[in-house]
Amino acid sequence: MKKISIIVPCYNEEQAIPFFYDEITKIAEEMKNNFEFIFINDGSKDKTIEVIKQYSKKDKRVKYIHFSRNFGKEAAMLAGLKLSTGDYVAIMDADLQDPPSLLPQMLNILEDPNNDYDCVGTRRVTRKGEPPIRSLFARMFYKIINKMSKIEMVDGARDYRLMSRQMVDSILELGEYNRYSKGLFQFVGYNTKWLEYENVERVAGETKWSFWKLFLYAIEGIVAFSTAPLAISSIAGILFCIISFIMIIIIIAKTIIFGDPTAGWPSLVCIIFFVSGIQLFCLGIIGQYLSKTYLETKKRPIYIIKETNIK
Ligand code: UDP
Ligand code: MG
Repeated sequence: MKKISIIVPCYNEEQAIPFFYDEITKIAEEMKNNFEFIFINDGSKDKTIEVIKQYSKKDKRVKYIHFSRNFGKEAAMLAGLKLSTGDYVAIMDADLQDPPSLLPQMLNILEDPNNDYDCVGTRRVTRKGEPPIRSLFARMFYKIINKMSKIEMVDGARDYRLMSRQMVDSILELGEYNRYSKGLFQFVGYNTKWLEYENVERVAGETKWSFWKLFLYAIEGIVAFSTAPLAISSIAGILFCIISFIMIIIIIAKTIIFGDPTAGWPSLVCIIFFVSGIQLFCLGIIGQYLSKTYLETKKRPIYIIKETNIK
């Protein structure tokens, strides 16, 4: 029987964990596989770690990783992947938005000798219960990033997936500091089968993602997986040079032919504002890449573990 590791990043999830534990143990019972449940307490401000520790006393399969502060879900997933020992590894949210009931089906797909899948991912086909403006921006984001990046990002893909050991090891070889997992999972390749399901709302607690946080996360994704914005700013520069060259010729010709006095400081001001805006925008793009490079070169640890019961 193959061992399955379940990785659960938790940030302020004291209310959701009991629901999650009940659900996942029920599924584990049905599946008869060996399991380990790795809960990562990502610097929660509530009693999340106490709740997890209680379960770990009753149930030997429950492992915990206690971070020294909040390092973000990406860091929590990485820690879980690193310390997992299963032949298959699944990542799941603690809020039951990733239905554990899909696990048996996912495992069947991976174990079926007739197909060659290394990973079963899940994607939401609906965004029920989400503000419409957020869905609109999400859809726009996937359109833009897929145009800009060679790596295909799947619209609605969740972090919930079951992976083979081989794929997990490949992901662990990517040691970058700025981790954009949706892209990293695609980057390593392997065959992924996508299961589709309707969006489920969280059982308890509330989402940690504000619109602004999601927006910054989207920019991070673009910077991490595409250098197209840099090319776009160079092209914009060339374009503006050409336009200004043409305008110079027109103005000289007009003055020679009609002898117009050169009037028009309003248009001049508009042009200055416009062009300096474009310049700042392009500088900002370069700054984004530079700041990411800066963070990479520092080689700071991605997370710090304060306490764990994994030997
Ligand atoms: N999470 C985390 N660290 C964070 C933010 C979130 O470990 O800094 C966890 C959170 O506890 C949950 C999962 O990541 O298990 C997804 O978060 P959430 O449900 O808030 O996101 P949503 O489902 O709304 O996209
Ligand atoms: Mg959630």
